[in-house]
Amino acid sequence: MKDYKPVIGLEIHVELKTKSKMFCQCSADYFGAKPNMHVCPVCMGMPGALPVPNKTAILWMQTIGRALGCTLPKHSKFDRKHYSYPDLPKGYQISQYDEPFAVKGKVLLKNPYLKGGEKEFHITRVHMEEDTAKLIHQGKDSLVDFNRSSVPLVEIVTEPDFTDADDVKAFLEELQVIVRYLGVSDADMEKGSMRLEPNISVRKPGEVGLPKYKVEVKNINSFRFVKAAIEFEVKRQIEILEKGELPKQETRGYDDVHGGTYSQRSKEEAQDYRYFPEPDIPPFEFSEKYISDVENSLPELPSTLLTRFVKEYGVKEIDAYILTRDKKTADYFESIVLNDKIKKAGQAVANVIINKKIATSLPAEKFIEEFLKLGKPVETDTALLDTAVTTVLGANEKAVTEYKSGKQSVIMFLVGQVMKQMKGKADASVVRKTLEEKMK
Ligand code: ADP
Ligand code: MG
Ligand code: ZN
Repeated sequence: MKDYKPVIGLEIHVELKTKSKMFCQCSADYFGAKPNMHVCPVCMGMPGALPVPNKTAILWMQTIGRALGCTLPKHSKFDRKHYSYPDLPKGYQISQYDEPFAVKGKVLLKNPYLKGGEKEFHITRVHMEEDTAKLIHQGKDSLVDFNRSSVPLVEIVTEPDFTDADDVKAFLEELQVIVRYLGVSDADMEKGSMRLEPNISVRKPGEVGLPKYKVEVKNINSFRFVKAAIEFEVKRQIEILEKGELPKQETRGYDDVHGGTYSQRSKEEAQDYRYFPEPDIPPFEFSEKYISDVENSLPELPSTLLTRFVKEYGVKEIDAYILTRDKKTADYFESIVLNDKIKKAGQAVANVIINKKIATSLPAEKFIEEFLKLGKPVETDTALLDTAVTTVLGANEKAVTEYKSGKQSVIMFLVGQVMKQMKGKADASVVRKTLEEKMK
């Protein structure tokens, strides 16, 4: 089975939290609202109603594109994508076809939990579209709530770069963090403001290029489910390939109760959406200044901050990673560590924040007061420690034998013995490390 290689590309939808919808002035904040209260002729798709593009939505979408390393073309346009479904009142969705607002990006993953170190993944495009209405199924009836109809929706498409479900999960987590840093979306999967679609195929041993089919798993709402869906699909597809057959090109759903995917519709032929340029919205010509303003408005992104925290404040990579998972914590950490009273005690501040040794919600000044009260970490006299460790190991042969035969838990007993010898004047983690070294 080893020579089968998964091929995975992603499509991700992110709903923007602009005040108004994509092409009208209705409120885009539909979550929890009474059905069909945020509607007007434009987002209900009435004949003759004219769409007016939301400037902020386009700017925010371009910001996402830029944060993902994309180029922002000067020229762009909207297109109509036609299909018929009860959640799409116009019979077409306003989207972008061949000239999206952002193209060709890449994302560097610096997740220290990732196996194999830093990895880079490529973005094909990021485009702007409108969300559909929401169908609510009640027994044999289906109800339509148009509050979501035409809420600004960003689609991010990656290259089929991924070969591993864990990498996909790490990428999606990073993407969520980035979008939240930008402050343009809650990217909340439970509320449906971030929706995930992995495309999966498997390369046969020796096969070059992309496999001649792909399976798309629609609208998954958790990172864990994406990973499970990919693992399930890879296994299912390998079983089919093993029989000398080709898996069907199709769209599948994910069933989180049974943990598997199931066929929804087969997609042998590409669906014909009869795309054509949206005649009611003129094409866009962005000035150089506009584009460079978008680029310059980007905040520092989590991966850059991570590197900086390691370099400038001497924080361990893993802790810098934890601190940079949300902008609020990262900014808070930096506001403290840059305070004159702290003298850039980066790792010590990181430890206190991460281990919540002081309520991290305290105003910075208060936090610093408490931090200074904690006192300096205990300095360990290494010569004394060496003697203490040798004495303790000599006096506890049974514990040493147990540790060496795999009973790791006795280490805490030995640490306790050494601490006693040192009369508490040692850092427990240094003691532990020294013990582990000596018992190797
Ligand atoms: P479609 O027009 O059917 O949506 P695209 O070529 O636009 O297809 O690709 C959609 C997504 O599928 C992209 O994320 C892309 O990386 C991914 N993809 C394309 N070919 C494959 C493949 N053979 N296996 C897995 N993913 C693929
Ligand atoms: Mg698709
Ligand atoms: Zn409206």
